[in-house]
Amino acid sequence: MYIDLHIHTGASPCAAKEMSPWNIVRMSQLEGLSLIAITDHNTAANAGAVMRVGDELGLVILPGMEVQTREEVHLLAIFPTLEAVAAFEEFIWDHLPDIPNRPEFFGEQILYDSQDRQVASIERLLLQSVMLGVEEVGAAITAHAGLTIAAHINRRSYSLIGQLGFVPRDLKLDAIEIDRSFSHKRFTDEYVSLRHYPVLSNSDAHQLTDIVESHQSAVLIQEPSFLALRELLESGEGHRIRLR
Ligand SMILES: [Zn+2]
Ligand SMILES: [Zn+2]
Repeated sequence: MYIDLHIHTGASPCAAKEMSPWNIVRMSQLEGLSLIAITDHNTAANAGAVMRVGDELGLVILPGMEVQTREEVHLLAIFPTLEAVAAFEEFIWDHLPDIPNRPEFFGEQILYDSQDRQVASIERLLLQSVMLGVEEVGAAITAHAGLTIAAHINRRSYSLIGQLGFVPRDLKLDAIEIDRSFSHKRFTDEYVSLRHYPVLSNSDAHQLTDIVESHQSAVLIQEPSFLALRELLESGEGHRIRLR
């Protein structure tokens, strides 16, 4: 099965308006994906709408978030249920500075309903760091039954290695993500100390055409579900994940 665990919606100010629930689900199905996760910057506000469309059209959607920690590290948090992501989001927002978004400068932060209507905008700026360190965010993800993935580890900025240079001892990572510009071979050559983690490649889609290029993580799982994904990442069976 093809999976893509890093897709933004129009709630992320840097994402295109076309990243609406119906467009995302339709495009993912056209590209043959079986499981996707919605991961906006510091919010899960559109995850429910995308999940409802997924239910209607028959695609499994996992709710998630791309958290920006105090160290400007991006961590993907993937959850089994909407309830879990909502509780996690409340915790994150308690630590997200109350700075208003400036849409003309950062872009709009659009909320959709499951009919693709733009129903509101998020007022607080999402493109900023929460006042929590990577270990605190990782612990909160685990406490809410989520999976923690170090996002685009090969990038110089906003990645765990780019910002810190190492994996903190108390951070429990379930997987490492490389972005679509980076091959698995380059990863194993250049990141020797991280080789023991499961490695995934996702699209980090900010526009629909990004999803087209996202056939990069093919996984051997029984069914497209959070439980099957967690079992895969915990299994230590790297051969069940195939990247480009
Ligand atoms: Zn990122
Ligand atoms: Zn992203």
